[in-house]
Amino acid sequence: MTTELRVPGDKSISHRALLLAALAAGESRIRGILTGEDPQATASILRALGVRVPPLVADAELRITGVGVRGLRAPGRILDCANSGTTARLMLGVLAGQELEATLTGDESLRRRPMRRVTDPLSRMGARFEPLAAPGRLPLRIAGGPLHALDYRLPVASAQLKSALLLAGVTGGVPVRLLEPGFSRDHTERMLAAVGCALTSSPERDANRVRLTAAPAALDPLDVVVPGDFSSAAFPLALALLGGAGEGIVLRGIGLNPTRTGLLPVLQRMNARIEVEIGSAPEGGEPAGDLIVHASDLTGTHVERQEIPGLIDEVPVLAVLAARARGVTRITGAEELRVKESDRLGALAANLSNLGVEVEELPDGLVIEGAGRPLTGAVEARGDHRIAMAFGVLGALAGNAITVDAPAAVGVSYPGFWEMLERASRPAGRPSVGDSGEDDLESARPVRERGRGPVIVIDGPAGSGKSTTAREVARRLGFRHLDSGALYRALTCALLESGRPPESWPALTESDLNAHPVRMVAAGSAFRMMLGARALTTELRSPEVDAHVSAVARLPAVRGWLLDRQRQAGKEGSLVGDGRDLGTVVFPDAEAKIFLVADVTERARRRLRDKGRDPDSDGAVAAEAARLRARDRIDATRGIAPLKKAAEAFEVDGTRLSFEEQVEAILGVVRARVGDRDARVPTSRE
Ligand code: C5P
Repeated sequence: MTTELRVPGDKSISHRALLLAALAAGESRIRGILTGEDPQATASILRALGVRVPPLVADAELRITGVGVRGLRAPGRILDCANSGTTARLMLGVLAGQELEATLTGDESLRRRPMRRVTDPLSRMGARFEPLAAPGRLPLRIAGGPLHALDYRLPVASAQLKSALLLAGVTGGVPVRLLEPGFSRDHTERMLAAVGCALTSSPERDANRVRLTAAPAALDPLDVVVPGDFSSAAFPLALALLGGAGEGIVLRGIGLNPTRTGLLPVLQRMNARIEVEIGSAPEGGEPAGDLIVHASDLTGTHVERQEIPGLIDEVPVLAVLAARARGVTRITGAEELRVKESDRLGALAANLSNLGVEVEELPDGLVIEGAGRPLTGAVEARGDHRIAMAFGVLGALAGNAITVDAPAAVGVSYPGFWEMLERASRPAGRPSVGDSGEDDLESARPVRERGRGPVIVIDGPAGSGKSTTAREVARRLGFRHLDSGALYRALTCALLESGRPPESWPALTESDLNAHPVRMVAAGSAFRMMLGARALTTELRSPEVDAHVSAVARLPAVRGWLLDRQRQAGKEGSLVGDGRDLGTVVFPDAEAKIFLVADVTERARRRLRDKGRDPDSDGAVAAEAARLRARDRIDATRGIAPLKKAAEAFEVDGTRLSFEEQVEAILGVVRARVGDRDARVPTSRE
């Protein structure tokens, strides 16, 4: 079965659609806009400048009534571009022609990015800039006003610079002639032409000449459908090429503007099997279509300077593909990447090398040697959405155990990225094992024969105190306690003792696992983990087991194998179980579900205390917190039975609760859900 996917709207087109709709005369209609944080920043700034921009809502049509090319109002506050370089640079162009003063700023990463490339030519046109912190950086005060025509040779092929200057021509009502040394994306040219600007674009040898000959006094309103962002589509595309999405993937409605799809010919050279079906009607002047992607045996290639503008945003995902391709991939002429959301060349080289990939960092590129061995480790995304997503793809491949420190960064351009990854990488043919499906169906699926008493589940992240709390809750209720984490730990012990190298574990089948004599036996108020005749105790919590257990727990064969064992325990009823997926997958019909969380630093401190270590030494807490985060990340991003709160679970935050208060809070939920009488049913012991 092939997975079909749509990706969020194109980020570049979304920004431009918002800006042009704001400057137009009349009402514009925009469908498919990206609701990510970057366009949100543009929308919020336009609101501060007096444009009524409704909230950006996914899949809803957005209607904006423009205020005219010079109709923006002086803002009553500082304009915050957040992480969005496009917002900052395009807005500088828009403001250059307005007779008003404004101050633009951004987050820490954006305040480090250079703005002079834009402010220099805009100053020549007559706008005035005053940097408020460092020269050439945000925050910047801009005073716009009457502008002169511009005839300018861009120092680099840059769509943001080109667009800022063209937009200044529009708001200033003056001609702009540009010579660009290369071909950066041309969405602004296409969209300006669509709203009535006289604009020509002609290739001259290796350069692109763009002329805005006349800007009309009023722009026509827009009527556009924003196609799916090719740069976002590149991530599921990479997942599918690397065999992480079953038989393959079909990506529907993707923007195929030729200035954006420079990755495709490179992938073709790398032996990728991709079919491109261009749709018949270009949407809003932009070609769009479907990409059909099959798992492929990739080989290395050489990507050179002239190819970089067409795939500038795709270098992170290309680097990750190169890490899995046969042979060496060389990327050169890409020094521009050092001034993106992060120094992307530096971030890619450091993270790939940490995971065990052979990589050389060049001043203007990377040399990456592909390999097939399992990759394990923690990625520092440096707050950069594309770095986080590229390594997210690598981490979703069978055999790899990779954690990304800043998963939320993806919200800039791809809200729902991790959910997409989970859905697309779910192993084909096993959709139901551990698949919690739609949340509201969870409790409808009959998976457990009615037991002799209630089942209470406590799920939550690592180190939230689930096991000790569950044990105490079980004791007070007279129920039996199932520590499901101990099962995964027991199997990890068995695998470590078997001498099989961890790299070979992903290939294990359920019958291989049957060869390991791991058993769980009911013993009084708990279950004991046995390896052959030996009861496992302290070895379950050794540092080696801690380090490997989450990678074991994400293997489909392991989850399938342990699922039956856990459900068997539930058949006896009167159970308090704790784990990650007990409420979502193992016992979706549990009588009461609790999701126990706590601040990660507090979890780290408690854990150190439990191990008899000093929780007051800062370094130890930080290191333990990092280990907990890493495990949570693996548990929460795996394709099968990820750690997540069941829809109807009651969340208990134990950060500020004593142990006793935590137990009482949970007992309160149990009494409310199960009733006092049932909650006191004693366990029927053997
Ligand atoms: O709870 P504990 O930390 O002992 O669990 C060890 C590991 O086992 C977890 O990090 C997780 O990877 C895995 N686990 C799981 N599902 C459960 C319980 C534990 O994946 N229900």
